Amino acid sequence: MKLLVIGSGGREHALVWKLAQSPHVTQMWCAPGNAGIQQERTAKTERPVECVNIGAEDLPRLLAFAQEKQADLTVVGPDNPLALGIVDLFQRHGLCIWGVNQKAAQFESSKVFSQKFMEKYGIPAAAAGTFDDAAAAKKFCASLGGKCVVKADGLALGKGVLICANQTEAERAVDEIMVSKAFGAAGAKAVIQEFLEGIEVSLHALCDGKTAKIFPTSQDHKRALDGDLGLNTGGMGTYSPTPFLTEAQLADTARQVLEPFMRGCAEERIDYRGLLYPGVMLTKAGPKILEFNARFGDPETQVYLTRLETDLVELLDASVSGTLGKLELKWSPLASVCVVMASGGYPGNYAKGKVITGLAAVNALPHRKVFHAGTARAGDRIVTSGGRVLGVTALGRDLKAAQSAAYAAVDKIHFDGAHFRHDIGAKAF
Ligand code: AMP
Repeated sequence: MKLLVIGSGGREHALVWKLAQSPHVTQMWCAPGNAGIQQERTAKTERPVECVNIGAEDLPRLLAFAQEKQADLTVVGPDNPLALGIVDLFQRHGLCIWGVNQKAAQFESSKVFSQKFMEKYGIPAAAAGTFDDAAAAKKFCASLGGKCVVKADGLALGKGVLICANQTEAERAVDEIMVSKAFGAAGAKAVIQEFLEGIEVSLHALCDGKTAKIFPTSQDHKRALDGDLGLNTGGMGTYSPTPFLTEAQLADTARQVLEPFMRGCAEERIDYRGLLYPGVMLTKAGPKILEFNARFGDPETQVYLTRLETDLVELLDASVSGTLGKLELKWSPLASVCVVMASGGYPGNYAKGKVITGLAAVNALPHRKVFHAGTARAGDRIVTSGGRVLGVTALGRDLKAAQSAAYAAVDKIHFDGAHFRHDIGAKAF
């Protein structure tokens, strides 16, 4: 099979790395990819994965490329092309593509849509209201005592969620999102949720329109600094499994969330084939969904795919063709930890073009893999080219061992201004 993967981050490197191991794959491209993706080879034919300079949102050129190369399967990593309707476009042209269609992508591209869906189908969620009027929104914040979370409806690069401690902050947040439109059209509507306390975990489920197969749990670290301080980021590290849900509790959560989700999709005629990634708060009153994402998490993918033992091509193929029910997802009993190394200053301004050293030394170590995110080639060197630069990932017999192995690898890698959290996985202990 010939595969095209779309995207350029750590998630896409992990997808390429895992897909390239499949004996079904003879040739692979990634658009636009990064310096690490370029170093991967298909296991069967030992052909290098070719990075092609087409942006993940350039739908017409992606389509033309997939047609020209006669790709047997295109795999979409990021949310934007999904929300733009890349799956619908490829399907209209008779191409096989993995990812959710535009209607299903609304679960991520519209928080109002998701909130209303959760209420209609009884999916456990925060008490919330949806608004297109700022005065009514402020009144609702007051009814929650001012302690609430104000969320812009649309995609806002993960920045459209404002946590408010009191009514003054809540009114400021409503003004920022709905009146001064700090996030543009994404803030025409807003969701306001009660503030939930508890432990946050990431769930992932692969769906084929009828069946949803749940993954083990993982936990992201969104804040930039140790101890969950600092600004929100795209994610500074993950680990899997977490100790917060037993297998029985995970199965129970899956039942509470995925059954009504799939039933609701059937009723609303949403053909959900792709990845469903609910962000969940484990509260004293049970699990509550904070949001839905309609693609793999980044950096959750890095820990999941290092633990996945099932052939990923077969899984994605079954997700497209509606035959997931026949497949079993097998997971390594080993734990996985991914520590993100970022550019100094991220998530604010940061410099690019810093030379990265130590990568070869780490990739020579067993049970360790460095997934590239913001990297580029400059002659024979690899340099930084983004905020999140690397996802240093390690497996271990337990979380402690995986954590030590990941940080031992981080210590070997250097670039000017590198910053990372020192406490990835610490909440588990
Ligand atoms: P979201 O993009 O909706 O997942 O929100 C981003 C982050 O804000 C989450 O990962 C949580 O840490 C936090 N958050 C969102 N909604 C709530 C809520 N209702 N209560 C407490 N924290 C929340």
